[in-house]
Amino acid sequence: MAESRQIIHVDMDAFYASVEQLDNPDLIGKAVIVGGNPKKRGVVSAASYEARKFGVHSAMPMSQAVRLCPNAIVLPVRMKRYVELSQQIHAIFEKFTPQIEPISLDEAFLDVTGSLQLFGSSEKIGRDIKYQIKEQLGLVASVGIATNKFLAKLASDLDKPDGFVVIAEENKQQILDPLPVSKIWGVGKVTEKALKSKGINTIGQLRKAPIDTLRSIFGDQAPHMFRLAQGIDNREVESSREAKSISSEQTFATDITDKNILLNVLLNQVEDVAQRLRTNDLEARTITLKLRYDDFRTVTRGNTFDHPTNTTKTLWQEAEAIFLKWHKKSAGAIRLLGFGASGLQEAGSGQHQLFSEPDHDKQKRLDEAFDRIRDKFGHDVLRRGK
Ligand SMILES: [Mg+2]
Repeated sequence: MAESRQIIHVDMDAFYASVEQLDNPDLIGKAVIVGGNPKKRGVVSAASYEARKFGVHSAMPMSQAVRLCPNAIVLPVRMKRYVELSQQIHAIFEKFTPQIEPISLDEAFLDVTGSLQLFGSSEKIGRDIKYQIKEQLGLVASVGIATNKFLAKLASDLDKPDGFVVIAEENKQQILDPLPVSKIWGVGKVTEKALKSKGINTIGQLRKAPIDTLRSIFGDQAPHMFRLAQGIDNREVESSREAKSISSEQTFATDITDKNILLNVLLNQVEDVAQRLRTNDLEARTITLKLRYDDFRTVTRGNTFDHPTNTTKTLWQEAEAIFLKWHKKSAGAIRLLGFGASGLQEAGSGQHQLFSEPDHDKQKRLDEAFDRIRDKFGHDVLRRGK
């Protein structure tokens, strides 16, 4: 029974920025922005809450961010450190359930339905996880608990930062109805406007709208949106062991059309995934780009290599080619962008095709050097030319 599922969504607060504040207490209470160089079309990867007050948010061009918040301390991305902490957070999750679906380094769904007998209620598990992350790692997580993924994610966001929100079946409609429609996964600016023009501002109004009205806005996604508005979502938590993929995705605060910003975000994601592959001694056979338009259409575009790889250059060349091909044909305002690697196998376990990656050894040494230097001095010190 889907209704009896217990799902926890854990979302670290301003993760990269919080890690920087953790590692350098002088930064606590200050506006910290983590991301790329403003002079090189870099984008914001994360902003501390002090910086968010100035309107800074992730995926914003860094040049714009430093204009909004001139006193901010801008730091490069130290991916290896974030991966390390993410793994420690993951280890805490694993004490409670094997059913874990990571969405990115700092966000995951946990299905704890099977853990209740051992640990008590989902609320107790959620509190324990939040407490252990704070006690053991010094970081703050927002936690949402509900009977499905949609509501759990919504819950973790309702009282951020340092949030802890449980949405029970009995009061879900009461919580949903007054919320703005933009709280529904995937409703961006354009859709919000279209809904507003029909007098639909809240989730409650959406739930009561005629299905034909919803169809005119959401197309064949209308029934799905109607279900979400009623707090119904049957999607399962896909644990990484089943999914066998490493990915990174980002939902933007505002829809993005600028090709260069999207490419920069994608490059960051490719570098993150590539480094995680190497950290875990894995290679990927397949890569996938995920693009969600403002009007809910989600497209995935992928490709499979003849031989698995974890070389940043190879992964990036292919990702960029897929992106440019997509952009040429069907560019539009993008709400979410993601990059994933699947078909994973242990590095070096397959036969290497020397001809498909003629400079494989050189690239491998380069990646190792990049990882080491980025580890020490930050992500942005060295960066592939794009
Ligand atoms: Mg987060």
